[in-house]
Amino acid sequence: MIVMKFGGSSVESAVAIDRVASIVRARLDRKPVVVVSAMGKTTNRLLAIANAAVASDKEGALRQLEELKSYTLAEGGSCGGRVEEHFRELADLVSGLAVIGELTPRSIDAISAFGERLSSIIVAERFRMLGIDAVHADSREYVITDTRHTQAAPLYPETYERLAANLKPVAEKQVVVMGGFIGSTKAGVTSTLGRGGSDFSASIIGAGIDAEEIQIWTDVDGMLTCDPRILPAGHRVRVITFAEAAELAYFGAKVLHPSTVLPAVEKDIPVLILNSRRPEVDGTRITAQSVPCRNVFKAIACKPEIVSVNVRSLRMLMAHGFLRRIFEVFDRYETSVDMIATSEVSVSLTIDNTKNLDSISNELREFAEVSIEPEQAIVCMVGEGINSTPGIAGRVFTALNGTNIRMVSQGASALNLSFVVNGKDLVRAVEALHEEFFSDPDPDVFEPKQ
Ligand code: ADP
Ligand code: ASP
Ligand code: MG
Repeated sequence: MIVMKFGGSSVESAVAIDRVASIVRARLDRKPVVVVSAMGKTTNRLLAIANAAVASDKEGALRQLEELKSYTLAEGGSCGGRVEEHFRELADLVSGLAVIGELTPRSIDAISAFGERLSSIIVAERFRMLGIDAVHADSREYVITDTRHTQAAPLYPETYERLAANLKPVAEKQVVVMGGFIGSTKAGVTSTLGRGGSDFSASIIGAGIDAEEIQIWTDVDGMLTCDPRILPAGHRVRVITFAEAAELAYFGAKVLHPSTVLPAVEKDIPVLILNSRRPEVDGTRITAQSVPCRNVFKAIACKPEIVSVNVRSLRMLMAHGFLRRIFEVFDRYETSVDMIATSEVSVSLTIDNTKNLDSISNELREFAEVSIEPEQAIVCMVGEGINSTPGIAGRVFTALNGTNIRMVSQGASALNLSFVVNGKDLVRAVEALHEEFFSDPDPDVFEPKQ
């Protein structure tokens, strides 16, 4: 049994869905469970609709909903009226939101879950029309989560029990098609695993049914040595470890949701990243075992648009308990900190979620001086070779000659060297580092860019 997850662009149109069908058909002997994202940009569109509804633009919200419905019907079909039925339910929800005038995390989940609820029904129906013995399963009956709506975490014992007892026997006989991203709380309320969470769903489901492999089908050839949106010259990484992939995902390699590797590691299930437009390419294999590599790094990840928060103790010296007070503030606002650097009297931290930045700075100002630097970027170089290779930091900083580096961090995980640069220097920094570390890629580990 394998899990095959197809992302939004892999199911964005009728043509794309048919491509998915032929990829799945070629692997029927491996008993695939298919996990799909919402079609194309549906999730973004649903969230925009929800925001319009509560911003007293009910007409605008309903008009956008009509447009989404036309797109969904044109590319996905009606599925015997079930698509229209879902859109009626959505219209009721949107009208309700317009009356209440407020979005809660729970109502955001109710709305955004429609993307995967619809795409999974549509893909299952299309598979059947094309002669694949497929059956739709509602992920909300299998993936049980806590109540942290919009960022819910799976409750593993319940989830694994349901997947093993109820899904696995069906998947032995038929191709099960289910939505990623969505689940439900113990009380049966719809929840979601956070943006990009369909990869995580695939891994949870794979672990729950003891899959032999988890395949993440997307719109690039695999994990590349740099983010193609920043620098298109990256090579495909053929093989990478779970630890390296997790670190890259956490520091911005959007191709994989950062939580994806957790369930897979626990059950030692290999994860593959593959291109649904070029299924003949081998992709990237993520495994527990590392392969010897003459390059120190496997890839460079970036997080643009981060904010650095500099906190300076008012007492001239960092008094005992200062760090705890700082972190308590971030914790209270559920804002995670990516990088930290400390000196005698000050602490610099970076965050990417600026939703509560004003409240956070106000609270910090009660006991410290605070300055905020927006438009910064994290560059994160990842590779298991770091620890065994002397002189790496020197090579990195020489390559970056002329770029102002704000913060540096190395050592926490032993496989990442990260630093913060000004957002406007990001492309230049990545270009220079890629040139320095990937101009002679080891053919056992990388497929060089042609
Ligand atoms: P999906 O909809 O299939 O989940 P995503 O858009 O979430 O796809 O992820 C794929 C995208 O990740 C690619 O199109 C690419 O722009 C981006 N990406 C960022 N960093 C990397 C990287 N190091 N390697 C490959 N893709 C990357
Ligand atoms: N559709 C969801 C999103 O856009 C989940 C996913 O695609 O992984 O975030
Ligand atoms: Mg994704």
